[in-house]
Amino acid sequence: MKPEIITGLPSGVKEKGQRVDFRTEQFDLAIQTKGYRMWWSRAAVCPCRNNEQTDQPDIACSICKGSGRWHFLPELGLSTGDKDSNGNTVEVNEDGDALLILAICTSATQDPQIFEKFGEWTFGTIKVTTQPGNKLGYRDRLVMLDAEMSWAQLIEFDGADTIDVTGGYQRNGLRYKCINPIQLRSVARVFKNGADYQVNADGGLDWFANKPATGTMLSLNYTINPVFEVFDHVYAFRNTLVAKKKLTASKAEQHTTMPVHAMAKLDYLVEGA
Ligand SMILES: [Zn+2]
Repeated sequence: MKPEIITGLPSGVKEKGQRVDFRTEQFDLAIQTKGYRMWWSRAAVCPCRNNEQTDQPDIACSICKGSGRWHFLPELGLSTGDKDSNGNTVEVNEDGDALLILAICTSATQDPQIFEKFGEWTFGTIKVTTQPGNKLGYRDRLVMLDAEMSWAQLIEFDGADTIDVTGGYQRNGLRYKCINPIQLRSVARVFKNGADYQVNADGGLDWFANKPATGTMLSLNYTINPVFEVFDHVYAFRNTLVAKKKLTASKAEQHTTMPVHAMAKLDYLVEGA
């Protein structure tokens, strides 16, 4: 028997009335109605890493502040109120490095026994699904706008009137924007929110009184919006063919992109973050 090449259906088999299409518009609707609000930033490797000695980031770098990566707006040049390339009105964060998107978040494991022990936030990992246009990339940052969690850290006080948000690699600042301070103290004394300091508009702390001596080690517990980092293989290029009432259309015309799906982890749990 001669080998043959098949490029169509065998004779007698009809496509009409039998095919099942993925209804992308229904998935869009689900994301629109059930998605959480997220600040999305793209990530890139910081050029300060490109030194011949170590490949390590520069701790004093003004772009990445020592993290080795920096974040920027997914679609450059947009401001709040502008229209994106799909014609939708966008919202940009105050720092100008994140765009507001909606994402469905589900927990990372299907094993109900793990839920019983650890709750839905197992190991700080979530599955994120976004609309097809929002093509999440490796190490992109997602800040969950409507959720709050507590965070604790040390600060080496540098004597300034403000403790700024500096990210995770500088000892004198906050790793995250502070929403609500719970406890701030040194070994010698407890500082009171409202009397000794208060949160400023940038999520840092302003001192009023009782400023500690320069070099004092402070312990701060505060609430933050959870910050996630995309860490797993991203289905950024999932596609499908949807015919609807255009069965005679070419494959190219039937082609539709599908929602983007990625795994993300609380950024301080990501190795090397
Ligand atoms: Zn850098």
